[in-house]
Amino acid sequence: MNIVVCAKQVIDVSEIKVDPSTKKPVLQGVPLKISDIDKNAVEEAIRIKEKHGGKVTVLTVSSSDAKERVKELLAMGADEAVIVSAPENADYDVVSKLLAAAIKKIGDYDIVLGGEASIDLFSGQMGPRLAGLLGIPQITYARKVDAEKDKVVAERDVGDVVVTMESPYPVLITVTKEINEPRLPSLMQILASANKPINEWSMESLGVKELTPKMETVEVKGVSMERKNIVYQDDVDEAVEKLVDSLAKEGVLR
Ligand SMILES: Cc1cc2nc3c(=O)[nH]c(=O)nc-3n(C[C@H](O)[C@H](O)[C@H](O)COP(=O)(O)OP(=O)(O)OC[C@H]3O[C@@H](n4cnc5c(N)ncnc54)[C@H](O)[C@@H]3O)c2cc1C
Repeated sequence: MNIVVCAKQVIDVSEIKVDPSTKKPVLQGVPLKISDIDKNAVEEAIRIKEKHGGKVTVLTVSSSDAKERVKELLAMGADEAVIVSAPENADYDVVSKLLAAAIKKIGDYDIVLGGEASIDLFSGQMGPRLAGLLGIPQITYARKVDAEKDKVVAERDVGDVVVTMESPYPVLITVTKEINEPRLPSLMQILASANKPINEWSMESLGVKELTPKMETVEVKGVSMERKNIVYQDDVDEAVEKLVDSLAKEGVLR
C-alpha cells in the first residue's frame, strides 16, 4: 500500500498575538509547525502501512524551509519526504496544482491522505481540488478508515450523522482530528529518521512552468472580542436567575 500524505507547514496559530491598534495579527517570530490534523493523517497512513506493508511519503509545498518540521513526520514512521518549493504568492490553485504534479511524479500510489483543513487558513479546499486534478474518488471528513485489500471503507463525520462509504484504490481521503491520536516518536526513532530521504523538488523539475494565482487575500484582521462586564450582586438565587435569563437572551442557553 503506497500512501502519500499531504502535510502543510503552518504558523502556530496559538502563538499569534493581535496588534490592538491595527487589529492585524503579529506574525513575526511566530514558530512554524506541521498543521495538527495533518499529523492525524500521517498517523493513519503509518497504521495502514503497519497492517498492509508499503510506503508512506509525506509531501509538502512550502516557500520557507520545511525540512525541520518534516523530520518530525519521518520520526513518527513515514519513509520519505518530498518538499516542493513554491513562489511566495501562491493561492489554492497554485498549491493544489503543485501538489498534484508532485503526486503524479511520486507515481505509484493507492491512497492520498490529508487533513480536513489546515489550522491556519482552514479553507478545506485542498482535498477536493486535488482529487479533481488527479481524477480519483475522494472521501472527505473521515473519522474512521478501514483499508482492505481491494477497497477502502471510511466513516464520514457529517455532524449528527455518520456516513459509511467505500471506494476502490486509488482514492483521496481527508481526515478529521478525531480519527486517531498521533504517536510521539521516541528518541531512537528520532535518531533513526536522520537517514531517511528528504527530496527537494523545484516547480521546474515537476514540469510546471508558470502558475498565476487567481485569488488574493485582501486583508487579515483579528476579531475583537469585548466583554460586557456585567456583575450580578443580588442574593445568590436572584443572581443565578438573572444570569440564566441573560444567557438565554444571548442564545447561549435554550
Ligand atoms: C508557498 C506558499 C505561498 C503562499 N502564498 C500566499 C499568498 O501570497 N497569499 C495568500 O493569501 N495565501 C498564500 N498561501 C496560502 C495558500 O493559498 C494556502 O495555504 C493553500 O492554498 C492551502 O489552503 P488552506 O491552508 O486553507 O488548506 P486546506 O484546504 O484547509 O488544507 C486541507 C489539507 O490540504 C493539505 N494541504 C494544504 N496546503 C498544503 C501544502 N502547502 N502542502 C501540503 N499539503 C497541504 C493538508 O493535508 C491540509 O490539511 C501560500 C501558501 C504556500 C504554501
